[in-house]
Amino acid sequence: MSDCIFCKIANGEIPVNVVYEDDQILSFHDADPQAPVHVLIIPKKHIPTMDDVTEEDGALLAHLMLKVQDIAKELGLNNGYRLVNNCGEDGFQTVKHLHFHLLGRRRMNWPPG
Ligand code: AMP
Ligand code: ZN
Repeated sequence: MSDCIFCKIANGEIPVNVVYEDDQILSFHDADPQAPVHVLIIPKKHIPTMDDVTEEDGALLAHLMLKVQDIAKELGLNNGYRLVNNCGEDGFQTVKHLHFHLLGRRRMNWPPG
């Protein structure tokens, strides 16, 4: 998607502070952190939202989820963290390229606002 900011980040057109990268996924620091540690984890493939995930994305999503603990360890989140996906209007998703927020190093509230 040529006009998608996260596709541009995934292909290196827009520089970010990278935490982890491989051929399928990218993790980078959020530009507007909501916690002392706030990184995003995205598939490099353009998938707009969780509602657009299909069976064929299963291995990609499993790969992403299995990397979360490695990224959390790398960031020193030894006391836990929160993993968030905002989906669609009610989820307050602002960037329409699937991403997961990994937040940590402070105690989170529940329920979220
Ligand atoms: P969401 O509201 O779930 O769609 O989250 C989008 C996130 O992307 C927000 O937390 C933004 O701060 C973050 N974001 C947007 N543009 C950039 C960028 N160029 N670099 C890093 N984070 C970004
Ligand atoms: Zn995209």
